[in-house]
Amino acid sequence: MSVTTRSAESSRSDRGFLGHPTGLSTLFFVELWERFSYYGMRAILLYFLVDTAANGGLGIDEATGTSVVAIYGSAVYLLSVLGGYAADRLVGARRSTLYGGVVIMAGHLSLAVPATPTAWLGIVLVALGTGLLKPNISAIVGRLYADDDPRRDAGFSIFYMSINLGALFSPLVVAFLRDRFGYHAGFSAAAVGMGVALVWFVLGRRTLRGAGDDVPNPLGATERRRLPLLVLGAVVAVALLVALASTWRDSVLLAVIDAISVLAIATPVAYFVVMFRSRKVDDQERTHLAAYIPLWVGAVVFWMIFEQAAGKMALFAQERTVTSVGGVQVNPEWFQSVNPLAIIALAPLFGLLWVRRAGRFPSTPMKFTIGVTLIGVSALAMAWAFASYQGNTSPVWVLGGVFVLQTVAELFLSPVGLSATTRLAPTAFASQAMALWFLATAAGQAVAAQLITAMSGLGDSTYYLVNAAITLVVAAAMLALVPWVRSRMASAEVTTV
Ligand code: GLU
Ligand code: ASP
Repeated sequence: MSVTTRSAESSRSDRGFLGHPTGLSTLFFVELWERFSYYGMRAILLYFLVDTAANGGLGIDEATGTSVVAIYGSAVYLLSVLGGYAADRLVGARRSTLYGGVVIMAGHLSLAVPATPTAWLGIVLVALGTGLLKPNISAIVGRLYADDDPRRDAGFSIFYMSINLGALFSPLVVAFLRDRFGYHAGFSAAAVGMGVALVWFVLGRRTLRGAGDDVPNPLGATERRRLPLLVLGAVVAVALLVALASTWRDSVLLAVIDAISVLAIATPVAYFVVMFRSRKVDDQERTHLAAYIPLWVGAVVFWMIFEQAAGKMALFAQERTVTSVGGVQVNPEWFQSVNPLAIIALAPLFGLLWVRRAGRFPSTPMKFTIGVTLIGVSALAMAWAFASYQGNTSPVWVLGGVFVLQTVAELFLSPVGLSATTRLAPTAFASQAMALWFLATAAGQAVAAQLITAMSGLGDSTYYLVNAAITLVVAAAMLALVPWVRSRMASAEVTTV
């Protein structure tokens, strides 16, 4: 019996946190503070990149800055592949989470130093550390439970709340600090958040009862010897890709954006090809994998629009929305809190609805289709908003309303997505399923980064119209494919978890 199973067995009687294993409380608060730091930093990242040097910013033009934010988001989720590898083959999920936390904190501290090179170093470190931490902390949640423990889904719902609680409060705190003391004070709040998360994780280690301590598929001796070479090879490959991209781009920054975009799109494609061709995958699993593709593509266009929350939508908040309501100053960062607040309010309702309607309309592919359609409609709303308001004239309900609409879309797709992924992934690739799901977010933001630079001369309204068109075409194709996906998914309901 593996360490994980043993710890999960003993957790069955552990009901220390809201009827769940006590370890969940540790992971809950660690993820809360980690997301506090992630979303707090992200709330001011674009403003920092595009603000003038005199104001403490980096003075990058708006299109490039927005593209950098998208590619940063893409890199975070792309690096979760490395996080998964580190956990499965090198150090285990718990240590990977811990090391990731240390790297993230170093990143935020680096960002707190008011200088340009340390700012870039900080951004790279936060992306790297988040890649190590994010997929693994979720994986440990799963391992707190025995395979057939009925509390598992509810455990993930509680965990989802911690993400959104952290995301709700940090933009408010960071906005306050940025407003009074500047960007770097804002970034230091993120460092403090991550510091709290780390201390909590170290102190709470015993509550995890060994979950995530094991290395499921350790490297053999020869592989271990080859590892430094592999790392070197990867670094050289990325450098070559950037060098190649600089032949058609006129700045290093744009070349880096292109290089990461290529990787973020090529990696998931390679994942699918390897899974389809693997001898460890049987015919039925191939059928499931085929059914998963339309869902995954839907998720790509979904995140392409959704993750503009900290990009184009953040610019709309700063440049086109009123700056005060009834004499109260409105900070643009506050809008970043609308989505997590709406998630906290609406997620329990949706959870209840899905339980009540289990086995009836809407099926999983239909929920995805609705989620993608709604995000497409939200893009149309943004196209209208950008065309309608110049200067700081838009009432707060416009952007606030779009955020709520996007939250409803998110609830149709995001929580459903991971469970569909785990159900449809071939057994031999089960532990990679989480990475594949996060790669949809990476690819979506890579596409966004490319569209932003390609359409930089066309205006934001046109940008959103093009996004809406792409998304609604994908949604129509998904709708047409619903019966096809359902029939292929049917056997997955019985044979796997
Ligand atoms: N907003 C969620 C989080 O930060 C989900 C992100 C995703 O799956 O891409 O955890
Ligand atoms: N709702 C996002 C994630 O849970 C958080 C955010 O975008 O602020 O779930």
